[in-house]
Amino acid sequence: MDTHYHDCILLHVDADGFFASVEQALNPALRGRPVVTGAERGIIAAASYEAKRLGIGRGMQLHEARKLSSDLVILPSDYEAYSLYSQRLFSILRRFTPLVEEYSIDEAFADLSGCSAILGRPLESVAEQLRAMVRNELGLTVSVGISLTKTLAKLCSKFRKPDGQTIVRREHVSTLLARTPVEKVWGIGPASAEKLTRLGIKSALDFTGMSEQEVRKHLHKPGVQTWYELRGRRVLPVDLEAKRSYDSMMKGHTFSPPSDDKPFIYSEAVRNLTLAFAKMRRHGHLAKELGLCLRCKDYTAQVMSGELPLATAHDAEALPCLHALFESLFVPGCLYRSTMVWVGALIAERGRQTDLFEDVPERELLGQLDHAVDRLHRRYGHASLVPATLLDGARKPVHSRDALPVRQALMVKGETLRRLAIPRLQLSNPI
Ligand SMILES: [Mg+2]
Repeated sequence: MDTHYHDCILLHVDADGFFASVEQALNPALRGRPVVTGAERGIIAAASYEAKRLGIGRGMQLHEARKLSSDLVILPSDYEAYSLYSQRLFSILRRFTPLVEEYSIDEAFADLSGCSAILGRPLESVAEQLRAMVRNELGLTVSVGISLTKTLAKLCSKFRKPDGQTIVRREHVSTLLARTPVEKVWGIGPASAEKLTRLGIKSALDFTGMSEQEVRKHLHKPGVQTWYELRGRRVLPVDLEAKRSYDSMMKGHTFSPPSDDKPFIYSEAVRNLTLAFAKMRRHGHLAKELGLCLRCKDYTAQVMSGELPLATAHDAEALPCLHALFESLFVPGCLYRSTMVWVGALIAERGRQTDLFEDVPERELLGQLDHAVDRLHRRYGHASLVPATLLDGARKPVHSRDALPVRQALMVKGETLRRLAIPRLQLSNPI
């Protein structure tokens, strides 16, 4: 137990309206205006607080949102920028403690045990300092919660949002729980919440008043873990391991308007394959299985998967398999809206044994080719060198949803897609 912080050492940080806030941080001209992202899908992926105040939120159709605000700024998603901001957010948090769990792109847990002597300040001022660093260095606001366990800290960070902080020590936990409806607790899904409502459990405090046997009977082990966590006993560890191994990965893309143009749809599938394979190589994995999903305009889907001849991370070795899947799935005259490619049965590249019949020199050349392409992509962006099949991507008429993030069209000298200046200064928005 920490000498000053006692057992109140679990911190949760959650960025406010993250994707939309990153856009506002990158482009100061957007600050104070209602901003949403997700233009490419027609559905809102994130909304700034200015937009939320107008009743606009995640998951809403863009045409509905436009009715609520004529001033709405609608942007295409720029996931590369969001992931860079996310890494910077987590690196600020690591100045306080090395024990950080990157829970999602805009949320993290941190364990402050043993840190009071080094930080030399009360928890309130730790949270203030963290928020100030993020605000000054990234131009974003975050909400911070500190309490005894992950589940309690996550409740705290939600308590005053946006740009707030809540610290709940053991003596005040029951007050927090009494004010929290049980369905708002992290780990209690809609099905569990419904069961609890039927049992007359309304608040998180009512839930902690149940017996362990009763919780186990109705909600099983995950429910018991949540029950312990709410009662102030840490059972969920802070997971320090970044996700290193995967079973599968997928890449998909929706296009507008829907199309029945076979070369174009095939080029979309190939593009998803190259993206999935690049990701797989980044993580040092090989695939033994390849899948393709073609989704029609009416949202029905045609799905098929096949085994690859060898476990591979080389695009060239998987393309014949993708072509065969595509030829068996594609229905002429059907209007398609998206394609998705997944790679499955992944194994780590390191543990792989050479197959007796494989052409080792040729595979080495393929490896060198992929390595060179990956380096070019890191330097100039992933559209800089592509298979010729992707030229068919230009067969589709241009649509308003095709717009790229402004950032990708306006690179500053020395910037790349993976390394950008923060905040982004443009002549149109001098600060
Ligand atoms: Mg958030």
